[in-house]
Amino acid sequence: MSSRKRLGGIWVGAICSFAAIVSLVPGASIARADGRATDAYLDETRARWEQTARQIWDTPELGLNETRSAAVLIEVLEKEGFQVTRGVGGEATAFAATAGSGAPVVALLAEYDALPGLSQAAGQPKKQPVAEGSPGHGCGHNLLGTAAVAAAIAANRERIAKKLPGTIQLFGTPAEEIGFGKTFMIRAGAFKRTDVVLSWHPDDETRVTNRTRLAATAVNVEFFGRAAHAASSPWLGRSAFDALVLFDHAISLMREHIKPTARMHRVIREGGSAPNIIADHTLGEYWLRDSTGESVNEMLGRLRKAADGAALATETRAKVSLIFSLREPVPNDALNAVLQRELERIGPPRFDDSDQRFAKAMQKELGFEEAGISTKVMPYVQHNGGTASSDIGEVSAAVPLAELNLATRPLGTAAHHWAQTACAAHPLGYKGMGVAAKVLAASAIDVLTEPAIVKAAHDEFMVQTKGKPYVSPLPPDAKPVAPAAAH
Ligand SMILES: [Zn+2]
Repeated sequence: MSSRKRLGGIWVGAICSFAAIVSLVPGASIARADGRATDAYLDETRARWEQTARQIWDTPELGLNETRSAAVLIEVLEKEGFQVTRGVGGEATAFAATAGSGAPVVALLAEYDALPGLSQAAGQPKKQPVAEGSPGHGCGHNLLGTAAVAAAIAANRERIAKKLPGTIQLFGTPAEEIGFGKTFMIRAGAFKRTDVVLSWHPDDETRVTNRTRLAATAVNVEFFGRAAHAASSPWLGRSAFDALVLFDHAISLMREHIKPTARMHRVIREGGSAPNIIADHTLGEYWLRDSTGESVNEMLGRLRKAADGAALATETRAKVSLIFSLREPVPNDALNAVLQRELERIGPPRFDDSDQRFAKAMQKELGFEEAGISTKVMPYVQHNGGTASSDIGEVSAAVPLAELNLATRPLGTAAHHWAQTACAAHPLGYKGMGVAAKVLAASAIDVLTEPAIVKAAHDEFMVQTKGKPYVSPLPPDAKPVAPAAAH
């Protein structure tokens, strides 16, 4: 199929025009009015959502340990009448909140996990940890989770007020940063009833994303040798450390023979206990990424051979075990067009002079061009967005999914950095969060009021997935365990 897709009786080109879509989609005028009602609610309650985001930011928690963060969001949802199921997919901090009944079923995704070592003072343009070495919201998931919940509540109030048909779901999805929170939720059937999923992520640009996130697989590579005294009887030992070094060298050599789109990175988690003991056990964590899951699988096959080769050469034993595997997102132009339409209607975040001064001070500190923060909505084109992998790739293979980015940090700055932590509790981040909530809420109402959207999204999904049902990458006995806690 070409890049032109059918949406509700019209053809949407690679670049969408808001005016053209709105005038042609049946019922669009009603949806636009409803969208504005959700905007008004989110404007009235803005301070409350900023406090919620700040509360989560103040207690950053790593994947699968987001107890307080999940509790903050669940409390708000329950007060608004959502039915909440906790512990979805065997993950204590995962939840599913539901309001309404019947079709269509539109879901929003909340993330709320932090990253290790990215503690940073709020609104400080220079590196200044709140607590050295502690976690921080360096991917802005405090904003992500809060905007999704705010949007679900805004849309639900509108559903009730206008007696709209359908169901609104809000999935609390933990452990995104360790790659598998949503994958276990899908395996447990959490998305079985869901028609479409809408999501967003903090960024340095404002745009609807399309086909850029990479597929990724992470594995633990272990070597088992034989311990011995390194000085008095080294000939009796077989070094698991040597095996890991040899294996790592093989991977480094492999870098010359992978596609330019591929990425490989690693850390050594266990390298032995002391130089005078021949190590009998070592462990490295290796991540493989590329633009398609097929290519990642091919690289994984080569990694396994390198591990076996290193074990053979050192007379040790190799074991490769999967930590997570997530595919590249399945694009859905029909659903993306809905987000683009609402994003263009609402417009980019309104950053003021003090936001721009803060952004430029941060860029100066980092040695970047002092370009400030983005004030425009990017047009919808193919290959919009960054290359970070996410477990939303798995969701997109199970249910039609669309995602947008909002500028919540200065141009050129990256996620997984103290700069994003600083902006995630600053007006700059809150303004991006506010627009994200409005776009998601209005788009959710569009889905409830325009049956053509679900149909177009589903038809395109069937083409993109060739009608094949979702197959989980998880081995049958896999359990959600954080990598650092796994060994
Ligand atoms: Zn993230």
